[in-house]
Amino acid sequence: MSTRVGVIGLGIMGSGMANNLLAKGHRVSVQNRTAARTERFAAAGATVCCTPSELAASCDVILICVSDTPDVEAVLFGPDGVAAGAAAGSLVVDASTISPDATRDFAARLAGQGVAFLDTPVSGGSEGAVKGTLSIMVGGAAADLERARPVLEAIGARVTHVGPVGAGQTCKLVNQILVVVNMLAVSEALLLAQAGGLDLTKTIAAVESGAAGSWMLSNRGPQVIQRDWRPGFTIDLQQKDLRLVLEAADSLGIPLQATAGVFQLYRTLQSAGLGGEGNHALVKALEALSGTTVGRSGDSADDSRR
Ligand code: NAP
Repeated sequence: MSTRVGVIGLGIMGSGMANNLLAKGHRVSVQNRTAARTERFAAAGATVCCTPSELAASCDVILICVSDTPDVEAVLFGPDGVAAGAAAGSLVVDASTISPDATRDFAARLAGQGVAFLDTPVSGGSEGAVKGTLSIMVGGAAADLERARPVLEAIGARVTHVGPVGAGQTCKLVNQILVVVNMLAVSEALLLAQAGGLDLTKTIAAVESGAAGSWMLSNRGPQVIQRDWRPGFTIDLQQKDLRLVLEAADSLGIPLQATAGVFQLYRTLQSAGLGGEGNHALVKALEALSGTTVGRSGDSADDSRR
């Protein structure tokens, strides 16, 4: 009989993953804390389970995508958690972005009952989850990755084995430094372009194919110009990741000036009630400091917090 894959967590990312697994012919079970989110997957052919334990008992590969470290712990080891149901020989694959240290602890506890573990955090945003084009950073044993590969290749376009358990999460923290410092550069660049009287769309066109080009500039730059703050990734989740980055840097003794600065800038936006906006709304923190507003002509400085 073919492998059965269980997906726990049907939020923005997990729902895209479950859809792609179903579309590519996998036998899929799903479970979500808020049961209503499972309904459309039942209609698409998935088996719905009531608890992580029930799902784990019937699946060979258990894919988790929930919010933060305590949430993964609750799904794995809480009442009716994965550990209570998983058979020896099954494989847990965690695609959430969480603490590398906690990841190693979770893997060791599962290993005690013969359950294997991979950390597989992803990058590529909600767009990548829907299209099945995520970049996946894998920590764990090579043999476990080969078991999980058909599942990972159904949800991602690039699967990179970066090291032992925990290394995937450390690599994801590296990814998040690059994301936010790049977003800071895009914000400062657009602010100077605005103050200097440049046409912002022409400015992006002029620089994006040269050495200054980036995914953030090409995808989020136009959204900033349009003052479209709908999230691909919210400021609140971005801050969760930056907290993980700064904790890891602290324990490793690495100073991260720019990342720490961006964390404080996002904090001002959370204090203003903007934590649900997209991470490209970082520009609003710089607008508040400079009195200049990027984007649509005719916007006043007061507009910068909309
Ligand atoms: P989301 O839309 O907020 O979904 C969160 C999911 O986790 C929901 O299914 C939620 O269940 C479940 N959950 C949260 N706490 C739980 C708990 N204690 N017990 C059981 N289930 C719990 O978040 P998302 O954007 O999919 O992000 C999920 C993970 O992927 C995060 O670690 C995030 O950092 C990472 N990620 C996100 C993106 C992105 O662009 N969005 C990109 C890369 C990585 P309910 O439905 O009951 O609330």
